[in-house]
Order: sequence, then structure tokens, then C-alpha cells
Amino acid sequence: MNYRRIFGNVWQSALVLILTLAPALAAAQNSIESIRVWPSPDKTRIVFDLKKAPDYSYFTLYGSDPLRLVIDFSNTSLKTSLDELGEDSLLVDLIRTSTPKNNNDTRIVIELAAKSEPQIFPLPANESYPDRLVVDLPGKSAERSGPAKSIAELKDRKVTIAIDAGHGGDDPGSIGPSGTYEKTVVLKIARALASMINDDPGMQAYLIRSGDYYVDLNLRPQKAWQAKADFFVSIHADAFRTPQPRGASVWVLSKRRADSEVGRWLEGTERKSELLGGAETIIRDTGHEPFLAQTLLDMSMDSSIAGAYSASRYIIDEMSRITKMHKSKPQAASFAVLKSPDKPSLLVETGFISNPHEERLLNSNGHQQKLARAIYNGIRQYFVNNPLDNTYLANHGTIEYTVKSGDALSLIAERYGTTVAAIKRENNLKSSVLQVGQKLTIPSR
Ligand SMILES: [Zn+2]
Repeated sequence: MNYRRIFGNVWQSALVLILTLAPALAAAQNSIESIRVWPSPDKTRIVFDLKKAPDYSYFTLYGSDPLRLVIDFSNTSLKTSLDELGEDSLLVDLIRTSTPKNNNDTRIVIELAAKSEPQIFPLPANESYPDRLVVDLPGKSAERSGPAKSIAELKDRKVTIAIDAGHGGDDPGSIGPSGTYEKTVVLKIARALASMINDDPGMQAYLIRSGDYYVDLNLRPQKAWQAKADFFVSIHADAFRTPQPRGASVWVLSKRRADSEVGRWLEGTERKSELLGGAETIIRDTGHEPFLAQTLLDMSMDSSIAGAYSASRYIIDEMSRITKMHKSKPQAASFAVLKSPDKPSLLVETGFISNPHEERLLNSNGHQQKLARAIYNGIRQYFVNNPLDNTYLANHGTIEYTVKSGDALSLIAERYGTTVAAIKRENNLKSSVLQVGQKLTIPSR
């Protein structure tokens, strides 16, 4: 046997051993430096601040009590206390450690009050934050601390509707053949709508302009955002160069136009915070990752446009009962006032002020009230059918429905996401035969 060869083998083995150990030794250097828990009304976010990018896996134990989410951090030590973590989240009962499979690992167990589909993703270090692992747990997480009364209040929050009367001040809007100003009639409709909304126990109104003055177009969505509005409706009257066109229409933001305009807007950093609206808190939390910010913004924009479409159908349905419609489907366009990414926003053209007949109608108090009532009914139906967590309408909302010709209980039930039996129970109906004009109370889901 060759001595050198044996030595060579030993040396090789040692080298292999060192190479095998090297990554393990290096990875064992990772550590959880701190843990932050942020409950918000609809989710709890848990952020693990780490020394290095996490190597992790997770699983849920939802078949046993307590419900648990288990996260294993490979070759990671825990350098922070878990005491009192998650105390102010309704969703998180306890955050603790458990025995990991490997000695170098850390196993974190999150005990939950309710099942939640976790979204878990790492974020790289940036100038403000170290490497992180973010755990989002969707579900009611509103703060547990504070007096019981405030929880009840939180649960039954009113939805805020921002009402934007178009034009104003030195901008009269369109002018009718007998001299009616658009700015004047739309303010009257907006005020009527506001008072109907304020009479509703589940809603409150915020008037973007309450008098005859002009508000900059870009400032209008911003004012709605400052008022923490859940919905934005802009009220206008149409005009054409000939007197014939007539009828109302409802407009929502066109996504394609919005994408490029929002993209350009995002580039102007001073506009960023006002544009991001509701998504802003999350974005602040994730540091300055532009792609994540854009993704969140897109999601927010998509869902608010979808909401606006859905709401516009309810409003069109209500309006078509009391006035002629110029367009019976929601119209898409890019209006400055509709560019709130965080809430459904739509624009109602209440009729053609350039049409002499509709100018008279728009001027009449009775028709203004009818228009306001139709818009109010549509918005209310939207919020009962698309309930926001912890709102009065989600918990107590019912809908008044007037039967139209061709209606059947099964169609109405399907449309409002309820059952024929539930409608019959709510209205003490013995049979399924409906009369046109009959009023039904539709129970909320
Ligand atoms: Zn207008």
C-alpha cells in the first residue's frame, strides 16, 4: 500500500468533511432578531426580522385544538422574547416555540383563534429593514384591548360614502338650453343623497364639496381618502351639442387607461403616498420594494374596479326604474376623479342637461329626490351584497326589493346570494307567486 496514497485519501476525506460542514456552519449563523405583530381589522401580519434570508418551511394543524400554524426556521436561533406577542390580535392567541426536528432549527408555533389561510413570503433586506419573513393571516383581527363598547362599535362601523358633486364655483359644468347650470343641479342631488345616506344606520355621507366652489379634480379623490371613505360617487349631468340625446349613464374607471396613468403617477414620488391610499400602511411596512408596492397597488386597483362595476349594475338597475337610461351597461373611461385605487369609485351622469325635457326634470325637486334615492338604493345593495368586515350593513343589512315583471323568487335569491326559503321566511310568504310592484325584504347573507 502506498503511504502517500493513504495520506491523500485521509486528506481528501477531511476536505470532504470540511466542505460538508461548511454550509451547515454558515447557515447556523442565522437568527431571529425580533418579531413584530400587527393586527388590522381584516388580518394579522407577523414579521420576523432575521440576520440573513430565511430558510423555512411551514404547515398548519387545523384538525386539532388549538388551531396551529407551525413555522420551522432551518439553522436559526431565536434571539428575542415571545412574551406578550400577539396579545392585541383577535386572531392570534399565542406565539411560542416547540421542539424542532433538528437541534439547530427554531420551531415557532402560532396558536390561532380561527382558521386562516396563511400567506408567507420572505422580503430582502433594504436600507430600512433587515431580511424578513412575513406571515399574513387573513381574518378578523381588530384590537382586543380597550373597553368592550369600542369592540361593539368597531363591529358595527358605518360605511362612509364620499359624494362628489361635479364642477362648482367658476366652473358651471354644462349649461342647459334654458340656462340651468350642471354645478347647481348636481349639488342638489348630492345633498339629497347625503341626507338619505345619513338617515341609514349603516352609512354616513361625506360631501367633497358642500357649496358653490371649485375643488381641483385630483384633490377630490384625495379628500375622499382623508375622510377614510369606503366608496366614491361623482355626480354629473351630461351634455351634447344637439338637444336629442337623453338618459342617464354610470361610468367606472377603464383599467387599461388607468394602468399606464397610474404607472406614470407612481413615478412622481411625491404623489405616491396619496395615490396608494389604503395600501399605504402595508407598503410602508415592506420598506421600499417598488415591485411589491406596484403589485399591491394593482391588486387594490383590480378589486376596487371590480367593486365599482358591481355597484354600477345595482345603480343602473335602480335608475332604470325612474329615468330613461342613455346606456344600460356600465361605461368605462378614464376620469381623474375615479382614480382612487383603494375604493370602488364611479361617476353617475344623471341625464342630459342639453335635452330640454331632461333639463326640466333635473331642475325639479321630485326628480332630484328620485335620482338620489336610486343611487342610494344601488350603493346600499352593493354594500349588503359585498359586506365589509365589521360594518353595520354586513351584520344587519337587508335589502328592500320591488318585484319587476319577469321576476321569480329563484332569480332574486340567486342574484342576492340567498335562498328562496330565506326570502319566504323573511317575508312570511306562503307561495312563490309574486306580484309586480310587491315589496320584498331580502335578508343579508
Ligand atoms: Zn360634469
